[in-house]
Amino acid sequence: MPIWHWSTPAAELSCSPAPASVLPSLREGKPRLMAFSESYHCDVCGKDKSDTSSDWWLMWTEDFDPPGPSDIQPSMRLTRWNTLQAHAPETRHLCGATCVQTLLNRWMSGTKTATR
Ligand SMILES: [Zn+2]
Repeated sequence: MPIWHWSTPAAELSCSPAPASVLPSLREGKPRLMAFSESYHCDVCGKDKSDTSSDWWLMWTEDFDPPGPSDIQPSMRLTRWNTLQAHAPETRHLCGATCVQTLLNRWMSGTKTATR
């Protein structure tokens, strides 16, 4: 039984296809490679992630299967920003250590109440 549910839908990532105007601009010798633009924001404080942003982090939950007869339990994963992982629907985007701690606190308190 899932114990923790992320509230933000995955559709929030803007992965819309490049506009039709890309093709004419390629012929003009000015390829619009940036037509595929991604925008992320911190899932705790809402801060936008700009190209110059550093120290962003990713967090997501995974099932952890403990040794022995114990039931599977949720675990939290944390890693530095990785563009491919940032696309994963369950991944939270965080602008720094403060927001990482805030999300972790929320997750821990939510897990605690859900597991008695
Ligand atoms: Zn933040």
